[in-house]
Amino acid sequence: MINSPISKISLGKREFLVKRDDLIDPYLAGNKYRKLYSLLNAPSNALNKIISYGGTQSNAMLAIAAMCKRKNWEFVYYTKPVSLSLKEQEGGNYFHSLSLGMRHVEIQEELYRDFISSLRLNLDERTFVIDQGGADKSARDGLEALASEIREANLDCKSLATPSGTGTTALYLALALPEYKVYTTPCVGNGEYLREQMSALCEIPQNLIIIEPDKKWHFAKPYPEFFDVYSKLKEEGIEFDLLYAPAMWLSLINHTKEKILYIHSGGVSGNESMLKRYKRKFNL
Ligand SMILES: *Cc1c(COP(=O)(O)O)cnc(C)c1O
Repeated sequence: MINSPISKISLGKREFLVKRDDLIDPYLAGNKYRKLYSLLNAPSNALNKIISYGGTQSNAMLAIAAMCKRKNWEFVYYTKPVSLSLKEQEGGNYFHSLSLGMRHVEIQEELYRDFISSLRLNLDERTFVIDQGGADKSARDGLEALASEIREANLDCKSLATPSGTGTTALYLALALPEYKVYTTPCVGNGEYLREQMSALCEIPQNLIIIEPDKKWHFAKPYPEFFDVYSKLKEEGIEFDLLYAPAMWLSLINHTKEKILYIHSGGVSGNESMLKRYKRKFNL
C-alpha cells in the first residue's frame, strides 16, 4: 500500500490540506481502513470468522465486509430488527455489505443488549469480535501507520483535524503525533460523552482538542448547514461524508485560524442513502 496523497482545498477564504484516506479503496477506506489495518495484515489463515454488530448503515460494517471478502473470512453482523424498506433498498452500505458476502442476523430488541455482551463467550480461536464502530485497542497500529505517513510528508502545518464517533481515531492519532495539535468534534453525543468513550481506551493526551459544536447536532439527521458545507467542499473538488465531516468542518471554520491538515475519514459510500434523505426532506 502506497501512502494516501495530500490535496489542497479552499473553504471560505481559507486554505486547508486534506489527507486523502478516502481514495484508498471504494469500500475499505478512511479511518475504518486504518482501524482494521492490523487485521488486514494478519495472515488469512489466522482467522476464519469475524463477528460485529451495530447500525445497518454503518461505515464500519461495510469496511469489515470488504475486508472479509478480501481475506476470505466469514462475516456475521448482528443488529436490532430492521425495516423492510432497508432490506429492499438497492445501493447504500447495507446493500453493498450483503453483496460482499455479509451474513446479517437480526436480534429482538429485548434480547439485544444481553446478546451483545455475551458475544465473546465460547469463541473459538479463529473467530474475532470487533466492537461497534471498531472501537478497539487493535486500531492503534493502523493509526500509527497513518502518523508515520503524516510525518514523512514534512508539511508546513502543525495542526490536524478529524471528526469523532467513538473517538478512537482522534485519540490514537493524537497519541502517535504529540508534536501536532489534533482537533476533533463529537458527532455522536457531546464532548463529555466523547471524553468518556476515549478514557475507556486510554488517558486523553494534552494535544487532543475537542471542539464542542455550536449547535447540538443529532447523529445521522439531515441539516441544511451540513448540506451547505458538504456542497461547497464538493464544488472545490473533494466529496466528504454527510454524517461526520460537516460537523468537523463547521467547528474548524468557527473555532480555528491556523493552517490545518484534515484527515479524510472516508464514509463517502454512505452518501448514496443520505442524499436520498436530504432530497426528500429539503426538496433538493
Ligand atoms: C466511523 C467514522 C468516524 C468516527 O471514527 P471514530 O474512530 O469512531 O471516532 C468518522 N468519520 C467517518 C466517515 C466514519 O465512518
